[in-house]
Amino acid sequence: MTALSYVSEDKHSPWATHLAQVDRVLPYLGELSRWADTLRHPKRALIVDIPLEMDDGSVRHFEGYRVQHNLSRGPGKGGVRFHPDVTLDKVMALSAWMTVKCAAINLPFGGAKGGIRVDPRELSKKELERLTRRYTSEIGSIIGPQQDIPAPDVGTNPQVMAWMMDTWSMNVGMTSTGVVTGKPIHLGGSLGRVKATGRGVFVTGKVTAQRIGLELENARVAVQGFGNVGSVAAELFSQSGARVVTMQDHSATLHHSAGIDVAALIRWQQQHGSIAGFHGATTISHEAFWEQSCDILIPAALEGQITAESARKLVCRMVLEGANGPTLPEADDILTQRNITVVPDVICNAGGVTVSYFEWVQDFSSFFWSEDEINARLDKIMEQALLAIWQKSEQLAVSLRTAAYAVACERILTARKERGLYP
Ligand code: GLU
Repeated sequence: MTALSYVSEDKHSPWATHLAQVDRVLPYLGELSRWADTLRHPKRALIVDIPLEMDDGSVRHFEGYRVQHNLSRGPGKGGVRFHPDVTLDKVMALSAWMTVKCAAINLPFGGAKGGIRVDPRELSKKELERLTRRYTSEIGSIIGPQQDIPAPDVGTNPQVMAWMMDTWSMNVGMTSTGVVTGKPIHLGGSLGRVKATGRGVFVTGKVTAQRIGLELENARVAVQGFGNVGSVAAELFSQSGARVVTMQDHSATLHHSAGIDVAALIRWQQQHGSIAGFHGATTISHEAFWEQSCDILIPAALEGQITAESARKLVCRMVLEGANGPTLPEADDILTQRNITVVPDVICNAGGVTVSYFEWVQDFSSFFWSEDEINARLDKIMEQALLAIWQKSEQLAVSLRTAAYAVACERILTARKERGLYP
């Protein structure tokens, strides 16, 4: 294996986590392991400078990225993140997880990811629009409906996708809706896309609960993150009779043993911008989140949240990884030893990219499906993909994560092998 000169040496970095995950699946890949180095080398990584004229007339520069990790199975696919902690290392790992995710669920895509190191909350709407448009222009030569299709991620939303679609379309001289997914409905967006990731978390949780003999009725759920993923998952679990007992966002950690009224909390967040100050629960300390006993724990915020230390403290039966990369490899081992079932990110949060795939297909055929049709197809794809991974994990006697990697890497590396090397 050749080490990359441009990656961080931090062994807890997201890219290091990805490499550790690849190492763990190697023994199960048979003769395909000859091609495994492919997974340790992103195909293409573009770093761009984005100069932005601020509303006050000053000029600031932002660093942006688009990484295409692997394109063996189809065009690149993956979100764009606007967050102050975005780095090349992180975007590389996120792009690799997209490769594995698309293959685990069997979507005809490779993996990609992009981002800008910026706090979007500090920008005005006009500044955000200019930033998005310049970024899109800078990465314009490597994206496209058949090349690489961006989508929302942390800090971006349908409006940002509309600006990206418009900018790319203006530059190529025609309206191309299929260049990004997660767009507003009027611009070729798909019904069900906004809630798809949270819905997928719920569906994989329901299947897993059945497998491990956990009743959802009255099950206690703890959710970290109250964005697009965490809030929808919390809502669906509480609608199915579970109790959301602990809830954390960047502003506060709330607890209520009889169950938080999630619909009321969503209204509160819409009015106040965060969950802090909500009257229907007790506020506890940030660190106490990991010590609260529950049945289902859903990290749905950022990567690297479950460390070895928190993994030892957790009192729960399953972890549903709504976020990408929330569990460090050491923590993963501890959870496995403690018999806590982890539904890995590459399957648990794949609902978003699955409906992105539906959106892309609908844009090509200019024929749109009903929300019921979308949800039914989504549920079926996710259930079947997860059951296949459960089967693999039993067959190989490995964790669900290693099993998901085994299923996915077999597909990716078979494509690699069959395509062969050029020249
Ligand atoms: N950002 C989402 C993810 O991490 C969705 C990507 C997409 O829809 O392409 O899976």
